[in-house]
Amino acid sequence: MIWYPYQQMKTMKEPYKIIDAEGVFLKTPEREMIDSISSWWSVIHGYKHPVLTEAIKSQADQFSHVMLGGLTHEPVLKLADKLRDFLQGDLDYCFFSDSGSVAVEVALKMALQYYVNQGEMERTKVLSLTHAYHGDTFKTMEVGDDEDYHFILEAYGEKKDVIHVPTQIPALEQAFEMYHQQLNCFIVEPLLQGAGGMRMYDVSFLIKARELCDRYGVLLIFDEVATGFGRTGNRFVADLVQPDILVLGKALTGGYIGHAVTVANRKVYNGFYSDDSDKALMHGPTFMGNALACSAALASIELFEEEDYMSKIYRIEEITRREMAGFTNDKIKEVRMMGGCVCVEVKEADTLKGYQQFAYEHGVFSRPFLNCMYAMVPYIISEEQLVRVLDTMKAWFA
Ligand SMILES: *Cc1c(COP(=O)(O)O)cnc(C)c1O
Repeated sequence: MIWYPYQQMKTMKEPYKIIDAEGVFLKTPEREMIDSISSWWSVIHGYKHPVLTEAIKSQADQFSHVMLGGLTHEPVLKLADKLRDFLQGDLDYCFFSDSGSVAVEVALKMALQYYVNQGEMERTKVLSLTHAYHGDTFKTMEVGDDEDYHFILEAYGEKKDVIHVPTQIPALEQAFEMYHQQLNCFIVEPLLQGAGGMRMYDVSFLIKARELCDRYGVLLIFDEVATGFGRTGNRFVADLVQPDILVLGKALTGGYIGHAVTVANRKVYNGFYSDDSDKALMHGPTFMGNALACSAALASIELFEEEDYMSKIYRIEEITRREMAGFTNDKIKEVRMMGGCVCVEVKEADTLKGYQQFAYEHGVFSRPFLNCMYAMVPYIISEEQLVRVLDTMKAWFA
């Protein structure tokens, strides 16, 4: 039997069974519904996209996977070249892995070892945001600040190596003043904190973070597993402010196969580049650089460029702002929008009880969490389909 994610199995309601999917639609035996959350924010081109399907099929005719230890291949070489050109600045060094959590682990490992390699042994701490989410593995849970993991605190007591700050400049300055000698990195989900409650904040905070990291010699990590590939209305937030390490996942392959990448700049890479083998990065997920995943990612990025996806995202934001303008209700705390993300935060989580089934009956798949009803639609959505998603959200409060 299947143990489902984030579920109390005893009380879980039966999941919807998907028998086919195409474009924005998920199909169950009884109806089709618009996937308003793009399979956890990843399926930006929609389902059964002929270009992505073909990329995977033709690679499968060659080989599906070979290990990257001692071997290399065209799809992974091409993807690394593509990312080098696609990303700004000197974010040129790609370490691939099979999921976002692992890619964040790799980024945190890089940041710690970067200093150890230079003999700076006291930089053991990580600065991260309150309400941060960086994945489900142990270190990512620790740098995260998710209520769901507070059992970890109960078991182990106070965190020793992680400091959390809110997205406010004075608090950030204070944290740097206090801890800068012990910090190896500051890790953030830039502009949009997803799983921590769709929280949005201003780029000025990141500009200040870059300045403080430079002043105190601390590495800046952007976890763009969720925000990358246009979700915030920027291709990457890393286009606005340059991190030292960038983590991409989710939409990297258009959501077709799980894969992720930790991209380091030259400075970080050079911190490992040495005649001393002890200074190497010791990591190597079995399925890193999987050929099917790399082929899908290449095709996905090419589509993103050739079909000018940024203009699609601007259109989504424009329609969303138009449709949500002035929408409010006693039960609603705030309606927030950014790029291809809209969130209706309610005052009481109970308000959203039953919404998933309501949405299903209106032909929309939704999965509210915490106090958030939200949509992160596939970018290929039509205006009519998007309006239907937003109307369904509004109708719940009618
Ligand atoms: C989803 C997510 C992760 C974890 O990615 P997985 O592929 O689920 O391991 C990490 N960071 C952020 C910001 C995410 O949204």
